[in-house]
Amino acid sequence: MDNLFESINNILQSPLLRLAWYLLLFSVAVLWLALVFWTLKDARRRIDDALIIVVAVLTSLVFPFIGTLVYTILRPAEYLDDIRERELEMRAMEQELMSTQLCPNCRTLVRDDYIVCPRCRKQLRSTCVSCERPLERSWRVCPYCGEETDQQVSRPEAPALEETAEPFQREALGRSRA
Ligand SMILES: [Zn+2]
Ligand SMILES: [Zn+2]
Repeated sequence: MDNLFESINNILQSPLLRLAWYLLLFSVAVLWLALVFWTLKDARRRIDDALIIVVAVLTSLVFPFIGTLVYTILRPAEYLDDIRERELEMRAMEQELMSTQLCPNCRTLVRDDYIVCPRCRKQLRSTCVSCERPLERSWRVCPYCGEETDQQVSRPEAPALEETAEPFQREALGRSRA
């Protein structure tokens, strides 16, 4: 029995095993620090708040591996860049919607720079006789080339508004005009 114990002790004391042990410890330490660095990099892409980033990195540093695992479970699902991109897309869609209106004749969605309704061919705007750019209904002169327009400037959008207005709004419109 003593012999067995001694031989195990000898193996444990052998320089080769000791070297292997140090190598293992070194690898674990490198992996640990790499995970801390990864937490920092990942948190900066996902979290806007510097304090929370510091807490995440410290957790990863103080509790090796477990801290990183906890961070991975609790981290926000989306990258900040993706969130920003989605917000930009939403804003672009909003703008697109705001620049559309209904054709007063057939109720098709038309953009506010259309000259003619693509569906029912109703004239939505007139164009300048000289440079052929679309004119706002209230313009008496073309702002691009200075040509006089022959538009009658009278209550520009009122008829269309009256058509779409709710009864109570129509009443208010009538009152304001009277
Ligand atoms: Zn139309
Ligand atoms: Zn013009």
